[in-house]
Amino acid sequence: MKALFAHGAHDLRLEDCQPVAPGPGEVALRMARGGICGSDLHYYHNGGFGTVKLREPMILGHEVAGEITALGEGVQNLAVGDLVAVSPSRPCGACEECLRGLPNQCLNMRFYGSAMPFPHIQGAFREELTALASQCVPAGGLTAAQAAMAEPLAVCLHATRQAGDLLGKRVLITGCGPIGQLCILAARRAGAAEIVATDIAAPALEAAKTSGADRTLNTAENPEALAPYTAGKGTFDAAIECSGAPQALAACISVLRPRGTLVQLGLSGDMPVPMMQVTAKELSLKGSFRFHEEFAIAVQLMQKGLIDVAPLITHSFPLASFAEAFSTASDKSRAMKVQLEF
Ligand SMILES: [Zn+2]
Ligand SMILES: [Zn+2]
Repeated sequence: MKALFAHGAHDLRLEDCQPVAPGPGEVALRMARGGICGSDLHYYHNGGFGTVKLREPMILGHEVAGEITALGEGVQNLAVGDLVAVSPSRPCGACEECLRGLPNQCLNMRFYGSAMPFPHIQGAFREELTALASQCVPAGGLTAAQAAMAEPLAVCLHATRQAGDLLGKRVLITGCGPIGQLCILAARRAGAAEIVATDIAAPALEAAKTSGADRTLNTAENPEALAPYTAGKGTFDAAIECSGAPQALAACISVLRPRGTLVQLGLSGDMPVPMMQVTAKELSLKGSFRFHEEFAIAVQLMQKGLIDVAPLITHSFPLASFAEAFSTASDKSRAMKVQLEF
């Protein structure tokens, strides 16, 4: 079977890889779809991000869905032929962080397609995968393309949870790539009364309107677009920063009202923080990293039709056309979520 390896920046290779028979508690999967994420693009363009660098060839991919082809010993509640969304999150369940209920902070996390630990954790852009049954959430009623959106949606459900109670609140989302779009959908589902979205690209802002943003602002055309929201001491109750751009972070802090909450979700390395305003306005500054139980919730919200991710999936390419897929995913004027077909 084939798998898509990153050897370094601008060096992706489709290479042979041995399938592994499912052991006790595991299932074998024929992969169907895999979404290209911002982190996959960072490995592709820069060989990593922040302090995380590729140090050996690594199979990319962590937003995947597939069909079960075989069950290992003792697997119940799953059947051959089931379409499942596969969670890339594999906490150990035994470390200090897992035991205090923070599996996303696991000290021994083996998250698919991550160069954070060494040896790197191999990813899921491959034709066949053996996974723990506990990673698989049945996705009946969804297409494989929708099921492969469970991972980024889970990321955004976790971020809205970090933002606290959003019922009736005014929320700012900065950065309208797929994660920003899913944060708009998640914040609306959580009861946000008004959602304002910013980006520097017109197509992303168009998509944000479709996702349900009440107002979209182009901060490239008009860098002062958020100025009216600084009235008083600021007017937003919460902000979810999805771009990783220092300007966006500073803007969020200037428009949050006293005791507002900023959730930093975009990952791009260290950024300067206007700390004086955080102190003076008594803001809460929170990170958001991955997810755990939100993965199954993401699948259920899509199955119930409460969150519709379909408009965000703009392109899909056969695995062999990975080069075109990655260049399309890098072109924000054309693509929102680009997926591979295995
Ligand atoms: Zn991702
Ligand atoms: Zn752990």
